[in-house]
Formats: sequence, C-alpha cells, structure tokens
Amino acid sequence: MSSTFTPIAALGEFGLIDRMKERLAGIPRSENLIEGIGDDAAVYRAGDGVLHVVTTDVLIEGVHFDRSFIPMSFLGWKAISVNVSDVVAMNAKPLYATVSAGMPRNFSVEMMDGLYDGMAEACKAYGMELVGGDTSTAHALYLSITVIGEVREQDVVFRRGARVGDYLCVSGDVGGAFAGLKVLLDQREQLQNLGEAYEPELDAFQYVIQRQLRPRARLDIIKALREKGVRPTSMIDISDGLASEVHHIARRSEVGATVRIPAVPFDPETRAVADQFLDEVDAYALFGGEDYELLFTVDPKDVPTIDDLEGVSVIGTMEEVSKGVRAYSPDTGLMPLHPAGYRHFEGPGDLPESGLDLDDLDLSGDGA
Ligand code: ADP
Ligand code: MG
Repeated sequence: MSSTFTPIAALGEFGLIDRMKERLAGIPRSENLIEGIGDDAAVYRAGDGVLHVVTTDVLIEGVHFDRSFIPMSFLGWKAISVNVSDVVAMNAKPLYATVSAGMPRNFSVEMMDGLYDGMAEACKAYGMELVGGDTSTAHALYLSITVIGEVREQDVVFRRGARVGDYLCVSGDVGGAFAGLKVLLDQREQLQNLGEAYEPELDAFQYVIQRQLRPRARLDIIKALREKGVRPTSMIDISDGLASEVHHIARRSEVGATVRIPAVPFDPETRAVADQFLDEVDAYALFGGEDYELLFTVDPKDVPTIDDLEGVSVIGTMEEVSKGVRAYSPDTGLMPLHPAGYRHFEGPGDLPESGLDLDDLDLSGDGA
C-alpha cells in the first residue's frame, strides 16, 4: 500500500470523478453502452430502437439537507425529483426507482412514513414506480436513489450535442432555490439570536422556500418540446448553478457560449430576497444551484417555436470554442463567465440545527 496521502479536496469533485473514470478504463466496454460516466445519466441500448438511461443521486443529512429545515414528505419528494431531473435531462421518461435508506437511531417510524409518503407522491406525479431498495442503520439520514428511464433512440439528448450558432434556453426561472436557502438560514440565525420569542417570517417567501425544499423535475417541458417537434441539440439539468451547467455543455460539446444576463429569468420573490440581503439577483440566477430547471440548446430554426412556448426563455447563443464561455450585459459588455456553482469537498462545512417549524407552511406548490 502507498504511504502517500493526498486529500481528495486536492482534486475537487470533478477532478475526482475524472480520476475514478481513469481507474475504470480497463473494464471492457459493452457494445450496447452508448454513454458512460460524464452525462446526467448513463445510456444503454435496451431493445430495438429503445434506450434506457440510469442515474443515481444521494442526499445526506448535514451535506444536502438539514433535517430541521425540511419536512420528511418534502425530502422524499425532493430525493425522487432530483433523480428524475437527471433522467429528464437525457430527454427520457422515468420508469422505475430503487432507494437505499440509511437511518440514524433518532429517526422515528412517523418520519419514515412521511419520507415514503413524499416519495410515493412524487412517483405518482412523474408516472413511475418504486420497486425496491435497501435499508440500514447509519450515522446520519442517508438516501441514495437510482432511477431508470426510457427514450427512443432518435430522441435521446446528450450534454455533448451543442453546435456553434445554436440558441441556449432555460426552463422556468432560476436562483429561487438559493434565495429560499438564504431565507431559511437567515431565519434560523434570527431564531438562535433572539430565542423562542422570535416569530420566523416565512409566509412572504413561500415560493422560494418551495423552490429549495420541494423542487420539481421538468418532465412537462420535455413533453411540451416533443409535442412541438423540437428536439434539443444538447441538454443538462441545473443542479450546481446555471453558469456551471453552461460550462458543462460547452466543454462536452467543444463550443463556447454567450449568456445574455438580462434574458435570464428569475421570479420577483427571488429579486425581493436578493434586495433584502443587498445581493445581486443576477448572482443568485447564475450561480445559485438546485433549481432543477433544464438548460438546453436548440437549432436556430426552432427558435420561433421556443418563443411561443410558455416557461422557456432563450438566454444566449453558442459560439466558437475559442470565444470561451462569456456573459453579456449592457452595463459590463462581454465578460468571461466563471463556472462557480456548488462543489463538494470545496464548500462550507456541516449545517447546524435550525429549530424552524415548517409544518404550518403550505409549500406543496402545483405538483409536477
Ligand atoms: P449530476 O449533477 O447530473 O448528477 P454529477 O456531477 O453528479 O452529475 O456526475 C457527473 C458524472 O459523473 C455522471 O455521469 C455520474 O454518473 C458520474 N459519477 C459521479 N460520481 C461517480 C462515482 N462515484 N463513480 C462513478 N461515476 C460517478
Ligand atoms: Mg444533472
């Protein structure tokens, strides 16, 4: 055994994944494997003209969520949704899920009920089934979910398909989930500073809190695109932040990109939160993660159709690779766009307890 100890932080999350890929390079590759490590989901041939996609995402207490912030039913919903989001990012339909649950000793049967009610609700909303899993004791609540989806061979969309001249589009609005997190963290701090007498003000921020605690995967958007006859040339879901995902599409497609900042959509409530914290709302929209919206490129011929589609905004264009990834605003002109975004092993430490009571809030939103 080697006596060298290199901390994994030295590689960072993406460097680490590249390194893992290198270690696996010796495994003979099946001729049915179409896409392995490197996209939102792996893709393999399941039958004549039919592809399956498979993705796994983990949610760990103290890393991805704070148990005192999020009602268990929302956590169950979110755990399914973040996986479905990766399936949808391949332009595929989710079919089956399995779940591995690690539960600490202070977890109750009632909490487990809430968790599974939330997962059941999400499965119904996305038209899929939960077919198995594994159960274990753990030091902190841990959920690892795998989802398998299906797509016709001619419909699959990768991160790597963008071409120079394509238009860059985003669904819904961005920055809301980050604004929701800011509100939750701030209210917790107030509660800790001012004690029990403090009444947390959450009602005015229902939309952004919902964006943080109960995101929905945009299965509706890929359905709408298909109905309109638009097949994106590339696609990714926004988990780490819009800027970071533009970089992923650009790198995998070997093109550059220009994002028009004034075209990036955000909700008025997101702006209100940014204003309250004296932050730039554009920073929330570009770098805040966890919106689970879709970022995709389309051929110029599809732009008129996209313009007619509710819930999709054209936010930029794809350029020659030599131009790099840039942002344009009338104030600053063209500037390089830093990927930023959340990186495991580089982010802040564990989240402390909140003491916020969210049970009375109606955050169920408008479903999937
Ligand atoms: P996403 O944000 O869409 O879930 P990630 O950034 O987590 O994507 O992962 C990027 C790629 O790396 C995916 O193809 C994923 O399957 C792969 N990957 C991530 N972690 C591992 C791992 N521990 N071992 C092998 N592949 C991994
Ligand atoms: Mg993804």
